[in-house]
Amino acid sequence: MGEGKTLPTYFCRNCENPLALGEDLISKKFVGASGPAFMFSHAMNVVIGPKIERKLITGSYVVADVMCGNCGETLGWKYVETFHLRQRYKEGMFVIEKLKLTKKL
Ligand SMILES: [Zn+2]
Repeated sequence: MGEGKTLPTYFCRNCENPLALGEDLISKKFVGASGPAFMFSHAMNVVIGPKIERKLITGSYVVADVMCGNCGETLGWKYVETFHLRQRYKEGMFVIEKLKLTKKL
């Protein structure tokens, strides 16, 4: 893996199912239902719920709930579609609440 620093991997706090890689962490500045949330470009071992339209402070989005593929815990959501150019970078991204995560190197 070369000499780069090792980034943490994020796991489900409930069942320790691996959910995301540190290198896929995009932002720590999101807010979810329970408080701080992280945005990732990819998530693994998750189940994506049906698409729903949701109005958030920054506009309307089509999102889908994201659940742990092992224990079924609701972790956050995925941005499926946005309606404003400024928000388009969020499409396909996963937002997972910090409270639902644990990280290990
Ligand atoms: Zn889990």
